[in-house]
Amino acid sequence: MYTIATLGSHSCLQILKGAKEEGFNTLAVATKDMAKFYRGYSFIDEVKEIAKWRDFFALEKELIKKNVIIVPHGSFVAYLGLKENKKMKVPTFGSKDVLDWEQDRKKQRQWLVDAKIKVPHEFKDGSEIKGPVIVKFYGARGGKGYFVAHNPKEFKKKIAAFKGRPHVIQEYVIGAPIYIHYFASPLSGQVEIMSVDKRYETNVDSLGRIPLKGQEHIEVEPSFVVVGNIPLTLRESMLAKALQMGEKLVESSKRLIGGRGLYGPFCLETIVPENLEFHVIEISARIVAGTNISVPYSPYSYFKHGQAMTTGRRIAREIKTAIAENRLQEVLG
Ligand code: AMP
Ligand code: AMP
Repeated sequence: MYTIATLGSHSCLQILKGAKEEGFNTLAVATKDMAKFYRGYSFIDEVKEIAKWRDFFALEKELIKKNVIIVPHGSFVAYLGLKENKKMKVPTFGSKDVLDWEQDRKKQRQWLVDAKIKVPHEFKDGSEIKGPVIVKFYGARGGKGYFVAHNPKEFKKKIAAFKGRPHVIQEYVIGAPIYIHYFASPLSGQVEIMSVDKRYETNVDSLGRIPLKGQEHIEVEPSFVVVGNIPLTLRESMLAKALQMGEKLVESSKRLIGGRGLYGPFCLETIVPENLEFHVIEISARIVAGTNISVPYSPYSYFKHGQAMTTGRRIAREIKTAIAENRLQEVLG
């Protein structure tokens, strides 16, 4: 009997609910402040309390003994670190080789370009800036710490505070942010669209509530820190293109990263301007928190599976099928 476990945050509820629905034991590893919260859910069989995130590694031996399979999410790299994730000995769902490609913005771009997916223009140097740009630092996640500039002078002034931190200067695409959640099955080789969301970000999504006239008198920089997610459906005529992008990314990962490439859940974060072309701003190579909008299903997971199906449950289903077909090693990283 296997137990599916994850850290108590991000998309833990969705992952463990899905695991329970597929018949697994479930375990959450949570910090003291969150443990009581997770104990409130009957589909979580056990909550292990740790004092701080890094204490997770002290539990590894015990988790291995319990036949645990870890489903990683955004908190793993954010709170445990990239190197530590790669060294983790407890079996995990998904490829660890893609982590280096996901973490490095240059590699991400190389990957997208190789897959022939449209990306926003990038300026090599601040002096080349024409029109609005968004400046992103390496390793920044969830929209934290970005800034917007409109010309070389403004960029120079704003970047000074960051003392040479590696960053990219990207064309600010004026359009709708659309995040597409996929699942690539290592067992069947197929890619499917699970759900779509848009982010609710503070303060960019709230600035518009103050009329321009009122904004002139407050010293406020737009920021993109995510606080939640809103479900979306896409124009149906855009769905085929969205699916193709996911397929091309997976194909390219096999060429570039090697081995099994990218498999399991992933997300393409796009901005769509009025010409309706997807401009991909980022790849997330694992379950994203935006999939939480799909409990118990999204229109797209319902069309595909005809029953309640979240990304969390889809992962558990893949593990269950792999066990039944004696192919578990094919889904573990
Ligand atoms: P949390 O568990 O909320 O502390 O988040 C863990 C990591 O995932 C952090 O790096 C967050 O920035 C990121 N994250 C959490 N929720 C979301 C979300 N809804 N959209 C994008 N990133 C998120
Ligand atoms: P990211 O962390 O790259 O997903 O970006 C976080 C947020 O910043 C997005 O949801 C958008 O609101 C905004 N953003 C990032 N890149 C761009 C861009 N090139 N053009 C316009 N908005 C962007």
